Amino acid sequence: MEKFKQLNLSEELLEAIQREGFDSPSEIQEKTIPLVLAGKDVIGSSATGSGKTLAFGAGIIDRVSAGAGIQALILTPTRELAEQVGQTISKFANKKRLRVCQVYGGVSMDPQIRAMRQADIVVGTPGRLLDHLKRRTLNLSRIKFLVLDEADRMLDMGFVRDVENIIKSCPSNKQTMLFTATLSQDIAYMAKKYMKNPVHIEAGDKVDPSKLYQIYYDVTHETKLSLLVHLLKQEKNGVVMVFCNTRRNTDKLTRNLGLAGLHAESLHGGHSQNRRSSVLQSFHTRNTLILVCTDVAARGLDIKDVSHIYNYDIPKTGEEYIHRIGRTARAGKNGIAISFVSTGDHSEFRQIVRRVDSNIEKQPLPQFEVLQMPSKSSNQDGGHNITHGNRNESQGRFGSHRRFGGNFRGSRSDRDHGKRRDSRTNRNRGPRAMGGRRFGNRR
Ligand code: ADP
Ligand code: MG
Repeated sequence: MEKFKQLNLSEELLEAIQREGFDSPSEIQEKTIPLVLAGKDVIGSSATGSGKTLAFGAGIIDRVSAGAGIQALILTPTRELAEQVGQTISKFANKKRLRVCQVYGGVSMDPQIRAMRQADIVVGTPGRLLDHLKRRTLNLSRIKFLVLDEADRMLDMGFVRDVENIIKSCPSNKQTMLFTATLSQDIAYMAKKYMKNPVHIEAGDKVDPSKLYQIYYDVTHETKLSLLVHLLKQEKNGVVMVFCNTRRNTDKLTRNLGLAGLHAESLHGGHSQNRRSSVLQSFHTRNTLILVCTDVAARGLDIKDVSHIYNYDIPKTGEEYIHRIGRTARAGKNGIAISFVSTGDHSEFRQIVRRVDSNIEKQPLPQFEVLQMPSKSSNQDGGHNITHGNRNESQGRFGSHRRFGGNFRGSRSDRDHGKRRDSRTNRNRGPRAMGGRRFGNRR
């Protein structure tokens, strides 16, 4: 606790931090907290999992007074993040009796309106906050702190206008903090336009590269699902996240894993709030060990001990790849990132390799059972010569190893890669190869 004590935080907050079991501040916390307390605008960049919430939260908690109106507004790109950040801030603000309120779409307005009347700190998503502003149910006249958390993602999701409108509704003599994993032009624009001499802080990555094993398989679209099923069935323990590029792929893959006897849950932006909360809850409590998700849904979620990241769909950019793998190999644990590189993915994958500047080893394909489309069961015997990590070869934690029945519709999810399965040439000319969008960009 010594280092935390040197940061000039209140006794109440230090107690809460101690109760949380935090020993010393993370790098981003150590650098950001003094600046926030000194009234500076801050741009912070550090990886997911580096402790940004407390980095901006600590100063806010110690500079906000209970019952004096909404003095801090924290914007997050997704509802899950609003909940997560809201809960974290609440926990630390508890001793100081500050009221923290979460405001996001997909649930009714009235309870939020009531909660905001009492709130000292509001955490929310731009869309819903703007709705409240328009209805005049949100009063920002007392704002002293404005935080844009995961700002890059927020702007990527098309919230630029909404965010600008919210910023303009805040008093001008506030302190603004912006957290981002990447420094894009949009971020530079926002910073220049809306921040006062921001201090830029960068903190190292918490992902330990020596503990992260990155591999890829060269696999056809037709057999991606079969390979994934094979690999998942090898896993003994740990929490697995499987990334897809679209909502549609996410749902299809989840369904197909179910048909293959693997219980998975999907998480993407198209789900109702209730459904998303319960999926997340079951993931947190380890009822679900396989989460199939889009980047947006997974962004910034603090799910501990993710052992495997599967890039079932190759991410579009190196940044995205880094965010995905940032989910694993945290806090001294080992992690594996496994990418499925298919026809048409190679140029994107090369860019990723260049961007991450670390070794991604190609793995020979193991022998695996090829799931047939549309009905027949296996035609190859599943050997167990899987090569990654030191995984046990025996049947894993998924219990009984169900054979695929007649109603299994095999690799349907692969159709998401375009209805071009029988013509590689065509696939290469598909919208993706042309740099276009595949199924909209709804994630
Ligand atoms: P980020 O926003 O950078 O992704 P979070 O604020 O969500 O990171 O924190 C990630 C995890 O690290 C959380 O589980 C949090 O409890 C933990 N954490 C944060 N600060 C510390 C600290 N100083 N010591 C130990 N764990 C911490
Ligand atoms: Mg965060």
